[in-house]
Amino acid sequence: MSRTVAFVGLGHMGGPMAANLAKAGHRVLGHDLAPSAVEAAAETGVQPVASAAGAVAAADVVLTMLPAGRHVLGLYDDVLAAARPGTLFVDCSTIDVADARAAHERAAAAGMRSLDAPVSGGVAGAEAGTLTFMAGGGETEFAEARPLLAVMGKKAVHCGGAGAGQAAKICNNMILGVSMIAVSEAFVLGEKLGLSHQALYDVAATASGQCWALSVNCPVPGPVPASPANRDYRPGFAAALMAKDLGLAADAAREGGVHAELGLHAAELYAAYAEQVGDSEDFSGIVRTIRNRSGE
Ligand code: NAD
Repeated sequence: MSRTVAFVGLGHMGGPMAANLAKAGHRVLGHDLAPSAVEAAAETGVQPVASAAGAVAAADVVLTMLPAGRHVLGLYDDVLAAARPGTLFVDCSTIDVADARAAHERAAAAGMRSLDAPVSGGVAGAEAGTLTFMAGGGETEFAEARPLLAVMGKKAVHCGGAGAGQAAKICNNMILGVSMIAVSEAFVLGEKLGLSHQALYDVAATASGQCWALSVNCPVPGPVPASPANRDYRPGFAAALMAKDLGLAADAAREGGVHAELGLHAAELYAAYAEQVGDSEDFSGIVRTIRNRSGE
């Protein structure tokens, strides 16, 4: 069934996601504060609309892909009154669990339905339509969004009620941040002990040290030719985004009184590293910081 979708936030992720919806035959009304993002989207079949409220007023479903919680809540405050009663709002941005729950509450108070549905898979996944969505909200809302999510991704998991998608996202990325640091420390220790990268990889990738940070996004060049380490750490998944996600996980851990000592430490290490490199380096480049600190 063809839907009319308002898509707000046409950046690195939202641009290709909106393009895939338009390519699949949906009517996509796009809006972004940046004129360059709107122009690029218009070339992919997205119809530009001058105001977010204008796009939302004409839509069955509203998708948002914005930088952070304050942008999502600000947008909801601006557009909820313009939407038709019962419109489904699906926020795909990565935001604080508390902000996600607040967004659900504001949508419900305005007579709308909503999901939080953050993604994993990065810009390459957004372009290829192979993202993984993790959704929080009602069963009915998830079932209604599913055909649209299936256009933009290869997998969608209903994780539970309001905020559960964001919770799954930050828990997953806390595993990833900690495991990337562990893999990087092991390679630097191996270097000190005279072990080649390939030898450590060949053992760990088929032993109990195996994980995505090692076998897909290997932080040293050589063993996994497609990993960012082989192209001077061009992203990939930028260090700044990992720092952002670990910051959200650390905040949630502190609020919940969880003794996530490695997660909190990983958040500090990535915050310091991202301050130096921002979004110019893949998060696996943290191996160079560890090596430098180790006097190599
Ligand atoms: P981006 O900065 O490229 O895009 C965000 C867009 O939102 C920008 O074009 C900006 O102009 C627009 N915007 C901001 N406020 C707006 C408003 N009020 N109204 C309309 N437009 C507005 O960011 P991105 O890389 O596309 O990331 C978007 C979200 O997806 C973030 O929450 C990020 O954490 C998450 N995410 C990103 C990746 C990735 O690899 N880039 C992967 C997974 C999740």
